[in-house]
Amino acid sequence: MKKVTIICDFDGTITKQDNIVAIMKKFAPPEWEKIKDDVLSEKISIRQGVGKMFSLLPSHYNYKIIEYILSTAEIREGFEQFVQYVKRENIPFYIVSGGMDFFVKPLVKHLVNENVIFCNEADFSGDFIEIKWPYSCDENCSNDCGCCKPSIIRKITTKEDYVVVIGDSITDLKAAQCADFVFARDLLLEKCMEYNLPHQPFDTFDDIIQHLNQLKEVSV
Ligand code: MG
Ligand code: ZN
Repeated sequence: MKKVTIICDFDGTITKQDNIVAIMKKFAPPEWEKIKDDVLSEKISIRQGVGKMFSLLPSHYNYKIIEYILSTAEIREGFEQFVQYVKRENIPFYIVSGGMDFFVKPLVKHLVNENVIFCNEADFSGDFIEIKWPYSCDENCSNDCGCCKPSIIRKITTKEDYVVVIGDSITDLKAAQCADFVFARDLLLEKCMEYNLPHQPFDTFDDIIQHLNQLKEVSV
């Protein structure tokens, strides 16, 4: 009998928008767009691209950026009930995010414990923001992910776990490919269909609760 363990993305999944994109649109000089395009066309890795984008931002912007994100980011419907649901059902739940500690942690601090959050860290001590990568790729991944979701999944789950990934984007694809089941929206949904991964589309976290209840019956 396998036990459900949930690995959940943050940007575009728990929050409705992508917070890195929102920060760059608001605060970065126009060069950030070219870097973003280079990431999307896979000319440079996610780690390189995201690091470069943040290095365009002076560190003294930190309070402005944090205030902006905390006042504009929206949490997807049903997330709060979802957190209560996983607690009640005793389902291990982790947030695995390519986002930064300074917005991921405060946005959900009233709901989840910090020790279930895996994300990147921003260092504001220099002239420009420097990103630290505490969860970079292990020896089995050569993707230069930045925050390597497959490496984290390998570290925190075992063969006994029924790994469920929740996500929205191409940055979740590698994690989705090592999952037993995927809840997907947006680009990740297209990719799940393309790669034939077992999945369900979702719009709100209420949708996920409903399907998890069904999944429980089949997985036990
Ligand atoms: Mg995302
Ligand atoms: Zn990786």
